[in-house]
Amino acid sequence: MHGPAQTNTFAIDSLPVGYLGVTRSGKILAANEMFRGWCNSHDRELVDTSVFEVVEEEHGSELGSLLNGSSKGLSPNVVEVSIRADCGTPRRLQVTGKIQDTAGERIVHLALTDISERHRAAEVLREINIEQEAFTHSISHDLRAPLVTITNYSEYLANECSPAMDATARDVLTRIQRAAQRMDNVLQNLLLYSRVGRAEMLFAPVDVANLVTEILIQHDGLIQERHANIEMVKPFFSVHASRELLGQVLANLLTNALKYTPKEREPRVTFSARAQTDSVVICVEDNGIGIEAADFERIFQIFERLHGQAAYPGTGIGLAVVRRAVDRMNGKIWVESTVGRGSRFFVQLPN
Ligand code: ADP
Repeated sequence: MHGPAQTNTFAIDSLPVGYLGVTRSGKILAANEMFRGWCNSHDRELVDTSVFEVVEEEHGSELGSLLNGSSKGLSPNVVEVSIRADCGTPRRLQVTGKIQDTAGERIVHLALTDISERHRAAEVLREINIEQEAFTHSISHDLRAPLVTITNYSEYLANECSPAMDATARDVLTRIQRAAQRMDNVLQNLLLYSRVGRAEMLFAPVDVANLVTEILIQHDGLIQERHANIEMVKPFFSVHASRELLGQVLANLLTNALKYTPKEREPRVTFSARAQTDSVVICVEDNGIGIEAADFERIFQIFERLHGQAAYPGTGIGLAVVRRAVDRMNGKIWVESTVGRGSRFFVQLPN
């Protein structure tokens, strides 16, 4: 081999990642030194075999979509595959594809990065999370039982014994009832946070306009109470999501929009959506108190609150639920805001 072809071979062999040139059907046309090393293969052994014989079967269809340029998701030209155990040391690879169409022939150039370490760490983290999840669920559940007893007995005292109490005793009882109520809110929210992490995902096309209307009906009492003006800017689109989880996300954003608008201001909440190539971005905008840019990330962490209970009561779990639900639907969430003017929460989901 001489000239440009030799230079190309040299170039792909010097890459710090694996390289495969394949046809649309997966036939391997070229493999660089690093990839051959991963598969313990010699020079031309891999050429003319199928890439689907090298990767684990369970990842075949995603890789197939990548080769056909029909991959779904927020990063359509990136997939993860594992190398089959009988083709070398099992490895987790991140594959980025670039399609080259030349004179009717399609070659897909695949760059493969070894992410085995990261994948193993993610697996360990996932197991820890599952354990932590089970712990949170069971402790929240178990703590609610004695709390129900405290609540019921306090209510009995308030109803039956109040006339016999002096002002101090009545005040103490009210404080107990409020504290029990607050604790119950935290536990219920923790149970919700845990449920969102484990919920069985039923992905289906969700008509966003229809879902928003349903949520507005469910929160009509609160909307009326705050004299809120709610607007839905059409058109809305359909997204590929879990109706239950997306409903929870929009409901939490709506209730926050109403809560974080000063009492003396009538809340104005606008729902809108815009379509992008592979996704839809839903926006929930309010005219509330706004958020400092330094807190844009922090507010999505569990128990992070920017205000005291007296000004705005809450648990600091609502936006953590939102982030978790959006993560589970392979989406993204972020906020833009101006202090004193209002906030815009964006939810991006694959469509
Ligand atoms: P909670 O409302 O129970 O405190 P969240 O997790 O829903 O908990 O919100 C976390 C914090 O983010 C809130 O305490 C508040 O400071 C801020 N926040 C959330 N939504 C808004 C909003 N629409 N406008 C202004 N601040 C907000």
